[in-house]
Amino acid sequence: MEGVKIKEIEDFKKQLSFSLKEKEIIERLSIPYDIFLPLIFSIKFGGDWSLKFNSTNVMAIKEKITSYDEEKAVGYTLENIFLFNNPIMKDQEGTVYRLEKCGNKKEREIVKRPYQVKVDAEFILKASLNPMTKKISLKKVKGPFVFTGANAYGVSHEMEHLLGDEIKGESFFEFEYELDD
Ligand SMILES: [Zn+2]
Repeated sequence: MEGVKIKEIEDFKKQLSFSLKEKEIIERLSIPYDIFLPLIFSIKFGGDWSLKFNSTNVMAIKEKITSYDEEKAVGYTLENIFLFNNPIMKDQEGTVYRLEKCGNKKEREIVKRPYQVKVDAEFILKASLNPMTKKISLKKVKGPFVFTGANAYGVSHEMEHLLGDEIKGESFFEFEYELDD
């Protein structure tokens, strides 16, 4: 034990108890651990995630909602993460040209995404993280869900991974500089 600081031991104990609780929750939901994985990534590392194994597709999409009390000058950003098991794109509307950077690619790419999507799945789990109360609430919810803007781009991006692996976009170097004078 020499050299291990009290703080490190306390941190380790906290992590251990967090992981045990996580395992217990997954068991109570009676879903395989693999299905839960993108949700864990999204909870721990942020962002949207997708994963495919055997014939199962899973994706986690994160929505952020900030509540701010002007009088008290205090607020919090609630994160709602939707975990879709075998998601199906029901509808897409509009086209938005944008830049996206994916995984280990060096530069961003020019892609086209829908402005609005409607997505459903075999089952959907919603996790709400409140950084003020420090609670992660989980519940099974019924789809379909409609997302617009940032979340719609996220759904489209992850669905592209699930259906065809690589994100297909135009090279960043299609851009040309110009001087406005
Ligand atoms: Zn990606």
